[in-house]
Amino acid sequence: MNWKIKKADHDCSFDYFLIFTDYLKNAPSSYDRWKLVNRTIIEGNVCLKKNELARLLSEEIRKYVERIIENSPKVQLPPLLHGKIERINQILNQRRESIGFQEYPKVTLTAAFPPCVKRLYDSLLIGRHISHIGRFTLTSFFLNLGMSIEELLKLYNSASDFDEKLTRYQIEHIAGKKGSGTKYTPPKCDTLKTHGVCIGPDDLCKTINHPLSYYRRKIKLIKDLESVNND
Ligand code: SF4
Repeated sequence: MNWKIKKADHDCSFDYFLIFTDYLKNAPSSYDRWKLVNRTIIEGNVCLKKNELARLLSEEIRKYVERIIENSPKVQLPPLLHGKIERINQILNQRRESIGFQEYPKVTLTAAFPPCVKRLYDSLLIGRHISHIGRFTLTSFFLNLGMSIEELLKLYNSASDFDEKLTRYQIEHIAGKKGSGTKYTPPKCDTLKTHGVCIGPDDLCKTINHPLSYYRRKIKLIKDLESVNND
């Protein structure tokens, strides 16, 4: 990447120095702590902790990988495989309809979010980095609740450093408006546990195996409680 990085001296409270032009390429400057004006700069070099440099590098690597993917020739799937994928998509769509994932209230109830989604949502709002599977989970969760692509884009853009073009592409892909046309649902709890996204499961989590099932059940519990209180 040809970045100009220097290791800091032992008696310095920072770990690395990065020339400010490289810093500006990836710093999420919508956050105060990343704004150049709030950084310590010595002779044109921005002073960074190790984890901050890693954050900037991960962004650069992400862009690099995306460039490679964008410029690669499109691979034609063998007809046999193509047919099987179509069949799997059909089965998935039928199951999704039979489970009734679309039946949610018009207004999103944050109080009914499962702990994993609540945690991802909070991370998004405070600008903490969210892993790829975390972003996929959050986006597919909101889309299945009925949030529009524009609303989601607004949420991501106001609260994070995500690249707008890329974010739109990812949301449209998960919504089934791009690529295979499949509208995705969040991964099951087992998968989220494997990837470390399942954080702080509560008692209700023991009765379900999918974050959307949690949401449906929690809404029912909240409504039941409301009707008891109104009686
Ligand atoms: S058990 Fe499932 S719904 Fe509950 S926090 Fe873990 S992944 Fe989320």
